[in-house]
Amino acid sequence: MSDCLFCKIIAGDIPSAKLYEDERVFAFLDINPVNPGHALVIPKAHAEDLNGTSDEDAAAVIRTVKKLGPKILEATGATAYNVMSNVGADAGQIIFHTHVHIVPRKAGDGFKHWTQGKYGDGEMASLCSKVQSLL
Ligand code: AMP
Ligand code: ZN
Repeated sequence: MSDCLFCKIIAGDIPSAKLYEDERVFAFLDINPVNPGHALVIPKAHAEDLNGTSDEDAAAVIRTVKKLGPKILEATGATAYNVMSNVGADAGQIIFHTHVHIVPRKAGDGFKHWTQGKYGDGEMASLCSKVQSLL
């Protein structure tokens, strides 16, 4: 897509610190890392978010995450990593070309997990049925 930043990165019109590419995916370092080595893996085919990405491209993205993650740990000395994709503006998505973050982690690095809540009486079972009925 002509006005998409990540499509421009794939095309080489905007520079990036490229880590890997194959026929389906492109991976590069995030310009504003949570920790050094923070990387983004994106499908070459433009889609706004994971919901619009083909199963084949999604599988290729995850294959690449598994290929790169351990190498990023080796290169940075990090001991773990988070994998996440923000789907939709309310989830924090700011670039609307599907991407999966690889965030290298070390003990005590200060990156906090989200706070978790509890379901009310019956709420979990009814939500579970609702989602199942939509599949
Ligand atoms: P998200 O909030 O999931 O949409 O994340 C988009 C990510 O893209 C952010 O972590 C940005 O730091 C990153 N980003 C934006 N522009 C660039 C760029 N030119 N090169 C590398 N990463 C970028
Ligand atoms: Zn794009």
